[in-house]
Amino acid sequence: MKQCSYCGRDNADDALFCRECGTELERPSEPPPPEPQRPEYEFMPPSAADRTKDLVTLISCRTLVAADMIASRLRAAGIESFLPDESLMQVIGWNLNTYGYVRVQIAPKDYDAARDLLTEIGQDA
Ligand SMILES: [Zn+2]
Repeated sequence: MKQCSYCGRDNADDALFCRECGTELERPSEPPPPEPQRPEYEFMPPSAADRTKDLVTLISCRTLVAADMIASRLRAAGIESFLPDESLMQVIGWNLNTYGYVRVQIAPKDYDAARDLLTEIGQDA
């Protein structure tokens, strides 16, 4: 039996509303289904050759917004980053799903620090 929280009337277990006063009865609380853990971004470990370039791709983000957020976090930590796909994404933003990702590039010397920084952020979240 479910008891109405308003008038105290007992109602059938499957009742949605109190048959006495019409108050909505409390439903048994079901835990929300667990959200599948999807990474917001993927690290792109640079090869030895990549590390000799001016810029290496730190990570690929699914959206420009995510890439921007990472860029601003890096900037706050004193690491300059560059989004080579930014202007392209703005032009073909409507086609986001087929295009797929936005790269965040940084100087190779900053790679390890940037990765550590973002890994820490990920663990906090
Ligand atoms: Zn009631």
